[in-house]
Amino acid sequence: MISIDNVSKWYGDFQVLTDCTTAVAKGEVVVVCGPSGSGKSTLIKCVNALEPFQKGSIIVDGISVGDPKTDLPKLRSRVGMVFQHFELFPHLSITDNLTIAQVKVLGRQPDEARDKGLKLLDRVGLAAHAAKYPGQLSGGQQQRVAIARALAMDPIAMLFDEPTSALDPEMINEVLDVMTQLAHEGMTMMCVTHEMGFARRVADRVIFMDRGMIIEDCAKDDFFGSPRSERAQQFLSKIL
Ligand code: ADP
Ligand code: MG
Repeated sequence: MISIDNVSKWYGDFQVLTDCTTAVAKGEVVVVCGPSGSGKSTLIKCVNALEPFQKGSIIVDGISVGDPKTDLPKLRSRVGMVFQHFELFPHLSITDNLTIAQVKVLGRQPDEARDKGLKLLDRVGLAAHAAKYPGQLSGGQQQRVAIARALAMDPIAMLFDEPTSALDPEMINEVLDVMTQLAHEGMTMMCVTHEMGFARRVADRVIFMDRGMIIEDCAKDDFFGSPRSERAQQFLSKIL
């Protein structure tokens, strides 16, 4: 579903990604972890064409992300992205947040979009909050709305960038539960997270990044059991 092949990226003179190669199969859940500044966010932003890269290739469901002929808005509409900060539209109701891109990007009828949005809102346990505004919801609730909003676009894959790291501890699990449910339903997912409990329970594979490179890319049990690199061992010993 997602194929990343020898991708390198520079910000000016600074090389932020070096020869990153990995792939995510349909239905697979991959957790990306590593120290702050190691390039995790940059890598998943490249997958969604939110950042350009200078070398290598990324193919998402057969579409080449780096190809200048690719319709990027269409590609982005097919890959859901959930960020650390919820990024709901503050001036729109929850219903409108769930509806607007379906209508504007996918051309759905407003009624159909609304039905779909409300169904997904129910699925993340927030049916009662449809008429509220983002500011009236807790951080965990807003993040669940953000996930529902991404799902409303019928994404072929979901990218998460530290979706729980801005949340108070008591709200982390409600978001992880939604992500876990999605994973069990077969969604293809790339999740940047330091929630190693989630990684252990839900991930198929773990990618460990350091200084712009993919240092480990292995089955979850191998990663937690015996990471090969010293850097991954050090990282795990600090966060577990
Ligand atoms: P991570 O998500 O692993 O913390 P990032 O992908 O955000 O890492 O950043 C990787 C490196 O790239 C960091 O050193 C960061 O300072 C740098 N960086 C990120 N965004 C930019 C930017 N827009 N311009 C220049 N450097 C950046
Ligand atoms: Mg980041």
